[in-house]
Amino acid sequence: MITRRAGVRCEACGAGEDRQATRWLEAHERWVYDEARRVQTPKRLICLCTDCHTVTHFGYAQVRGLEAQAFAHLVKVTGMVRARPGGTSTRPSRCGGNAPPRTGAWT
Ligand SMILES: [Zn+2]
Repeated sequence: MITRRAGVRCEACGAGEDRQATRWLEAHERWVYDEARRVQTPKRLICLCTDCHTVTHFGYAQVRGLEAQAFAHLVKVTGMVRARPGGTSTRPSRCGGNAPPRTGAWT
């Protein structure tokens, strides 16, 4: 249902499934948080490929030893670059914290 709605493509990077690359299409939950009431409510499900899903759960990727792989995918999809010494980057507007990729699926 979710993958069909997404056109059988990852909503962040546009990739499809690739069994040889062990890249699947997975459901990722999005939540809204009401800080005042301390209530978390499911908002929607989005379709992410395995690589984008790994990036989305970056802390878990670190625990699993997938940090470098996840970071490489993040760089590839967003086009972000590492900051230069002194805190500047060549494309600062694309990589501030959790900057969304082209569809905003990672926000
Ligand atoms: Zn993806």
